[in-house]
Amino acid sequence: MSKKVDAITFEMDKATFNIFPEFCKGCGLCKEKCPNQTIIWSDKLGVYGTPTVKPKDEDSCIACSICEMVCPDCAISIIKKKTRKAI
Ligand code: SF4
Ligand code: SF4
Repeated sequence: MSKKVDAITFEMDKATFNIFPEFCKGCGLCKEKCPNQTIIWSDKLGVYGTPTVKPKDEDSCIACSICEMVCPDCAISIIKKKTRKAI
């Protein structure tokens, strides 16, 4: 039987940011590597009782997915939103 892992979801302008607290160990690597300092600590605790992360606002994320790529525990999922073409 497979276990469902719950995400906390934040809708941002350019992406949907999902964090899986059950996977996050609070290492801070995503926070350190985000080029726009979008990621901050959250009150929600992770697998080892350490803080998880969340985005600080809706517009600073550029949907680069660096946070997702550097997370050693696959605790972040970035789903890029389609951009509208200028007319
Ligand atoms: S997708 Fe890029 S800009 Fe957005 S939170 Fe992650 S590292 Fe930062
Ligand atoms: S989401 Fe990943 S990289 Fe970020 S603090 Fe949690 S475990 Fe570390």
